[in-house]
Parts: sequence; structure tokens; C-alpha cells
Amino acid sequence: MTDFNGKKKAITFSYDDGVTQDIRLIELFNKYGLKCTFNLNSGALGQTAELIREGVRVNHTKIAPDKVRSVYEGHEVATHSVTHPYLTRLTDEEIVREIEEDRIKLSELVGYDVVGHAYPMGDCDERVASLLRDRTGVKYARTVVSTHSFDLQPDNLFLFDPTVYHHREMDEMFRLGEEFLALKTDEPKLFYIWGHAYEFDIHNDWRRFEEFLEMISGRADIFYGTNTECLICP
Ligand SMILES: [Zn+2]
Repeated sequence: MTDFNGKKKAITFSYDDGVTQDIRLIELFNKYGLKCTFNLNSGALGQTAELIREGVRVNHTKIAPDKVRSVYEGHEVATHSVTHPYLTRLTDEEIVREIEEDRIKLSELVGYDVVGHAYPMGDCDERVASLLRDRTGVKYARTVVSTHSFDLQPDNLFLFDPTVYHHREMDEMFRLGEEFLALKTDEPKLFYIWGHAYEFDIHNDWRRFEEFLEMISGRADIFYGTNTECLICP
């Protein structure tokens, strides 16, 4: 890839688990003209659940299958496995089934070929990555290892490391945002942010995240695209 639609800088987002808080997050992304990839577990769609994180009880209910297409319209849907297991603990056959069944089911729901993946719990290794590359229709897969860098990883598309995790690194995300806005580059550079939308309910920091979106949006020199649009050659 030489650039993103004629631009040298791109920003993309990736949010996991297909929770109902995605609806509020999408409203924000749409308000600021930003694009996100949402990583869904087809085996959990429509399930009602709660989580207790950091002493806070939060809703962890998943978007219902018949709502997936309309809720995520204009953004990208990607796989997150059928049942959210630790993939490195599974056999080769089980791994392929977890990902490919999820991919096919989600493709049916959204009406296009789903090609992205994010590793559940970030659990991955070379064996899992090779299976995804060689035996599924997945074309890129994201880890949970923050690089704090904007470098593309063309040789690492099946173990792609994001720039920053919004939830534990909000201050760092703002700092990187300012650095990225000021960056002058001849090489393509990508700012990749990931998280879970339910985490905004834990820290009640929706407003602060919106300030970040306001800050990084509307720039003529930045391409705002889904993961596929930013990682895979058009
Ligand atoms: Zn997850």
C-alpha cells in the first residue's frame, strides 16, 4: 500500500464483542465522520449478560442477530470467533471451525464477505495465525499488544498490533492523537485504536472519548476508514 485514497495518514477503530453499547458508539463515530470495525461472536448474538469490572456492574448484552445488519451499516463487521475461547488451547480443526463458521454466519447477516478478525482475549500465536491465513477466508487479524506507533505492518497482517487501547490508555491516546495530527510524513502511517464499548460505562468517560473524536476528525490530510479499508490494498 502506498497511501490511503491518496492520503498518507489514516485513522481506524476496532471494537469487540458486539455489545449493545456499540449503538451509542456508532452514533458518535457517525457524528464525526469516523469508521470502525466491530468484531462479533455469532454464537453470542442476542444474549443478555452483565459483567462486573473494577467493582462496577455493566451491561454486556449482545446485539441481536436480526439487528446486526442495520446497527453496523456504514461500518465493518469482522469475526471474533463463534464462542470467544482461548484459541491457542484448541486443536487446529477447532480453531478453523471457530473462525470460519463465525465468518460465514456474519457474512450472511451483513450481506458482504467478512474478512477481518480480532483475537478473543488477544490470545494468539504463530500456529493460530497460520491457520487463519491458510485455512479461513480471513485476510487480517488484530492482537491486543499496543505499539504506540503508527507504522504499518504489511508482513504482520495476521498478528497485527494496534497503536493503543482506549480504556487503559486514555491519556496516552490523547498524546498520540496530538502527535499524529502534527505528523508530516511521506510514508503511509496508521493510527489504530481498539477497545470495548461497554468500557465507557465502567469509567463513565463517553464525554472524554467524544472530545478525542472531535479532536482527530475532519482533517483533510487524514483518511478515516474501516480496518479493511486501511489494512488491505484497495
Ligand atoms: Zn472479546
